[in-house]
Amino acid sequence: MILVLKPNASREQTDELLSRIKSMGLDVHISVGVDTTIVGLVGDTTKLDRLYFSSYDIVENVLKVTEPFKQANRMFHPNDTVIDVNGRKIGEGHFVIISGPCSVESEEQIVTIAKELKKAGASFLRGGAYKPRTSPYSFQGLGLEGLEFLKIARDETGLPIVSEIMSTDVLDRFVEDVDIIQVGARNMQNFVMLRELGRINKPVLLKRGLSATLEEWLMSAEYILNEGNEKVILCERGIRTFETYTRNTLDLSAIPAIKKLSHLPVIVDPSHATGKAWMVGTMSKAALVSGADGVIIEVHNNPRCALSDGEQSITPSEYSSIIPKIKMLAKIEEKQLEV
Ligand code: PEP
Ligand code: MN
Repeated sequence: MILVLKPNASREQTDELLSRIKSMGLDVHISVGVDTTIVGLVGDTTKLDRLYFSSYDIVENVLKVTEPFKQANRMFHPNDTVIDVNGRKIGEGHFVIISGPCSVESEEQIVTIAKELKKAGASFLRGGAYKPRTSPYSFQGLGLEGLEFLKIARDETGLPIVSEIMSTDVLDRFVEDVDIIQVGARNMQNFVMLRELGRINKPVLLKRGLSATLEEWLMSAEYILNEGNEKVILCERGIRTFETYTRNTLDLSAIPAIKKLSHLPVIVDPSHATGKAWMVGTMSKAALVSGADGVIIEVHNNPRCALSDGEQSITPSEYSSIIPKIKMLAKIEEKQLEV
């Protein structure tokens, strides 16, 4: 349930209303806009009577949120959420480019790629230290050593780092070492992990599950938000459909849909969505024009020898040729490129 307060609501009247709500065993989520203040009621509101709150003088309107996701809902937070990560902004009016190899393979590999990306223009360096592989015989990532190499690459280039967590056993290390923690598609509904990520103060990049609906995806975000961490970034990375030509099917229409349903930033991963390096540039441009707040692109200095996802990885020189086009489109779409 949402209470829209009148513009002239005084501090005292608002406090009185809030303590009444809390005494009912509910939590409150307040969003102060230019003209209106919105009070979101969090908890079991099914038995609440709308009329009860409309009798308060300062309440202009009482709205029922019919969707199961509440804190991720745009009704709770009419303005777009903008997340600041080391001075780079993710959300409304900004566009980020997160790039790097699928897996961190060695210090030399990640530092070399990071330097190329920095030169061409990038907002963040991404590399997997823990890899969720379909086969247990495939390369599983360098683990903590991979995080160390990422940190070296960050020191050398100044690019903040993004990496995927697969177990809360290493959560402390991720909080310490990484600037954005990625939750992969396969862990989108690892609710135990999502809850723990909700208790930290670090941005979480939440990828859409392989077959997740928008509602399921937003409910996963809700798990993180409900524990107090408001820094959630969504990532559309393609979904499973009957089509097999591409690795997944990039659901570009999810971008405007999410923008309508939620206030959270949403970025696109054209690499995992298509599985084809030659499509990455086109789909990155499409993502920007669709209203995405950024892209996450896999780049490898030697894709043919990559230990994972070589087929969908572009080279630094291909990457360099995409960036100027993104820059031009960002201008047309009035987005500030965060590089
Ligand atoms: C990845 O980012 O390398 C990855 C495994 O992505 P996803 O979880 O989207 O499959
Ligand atoms: Mn990958």
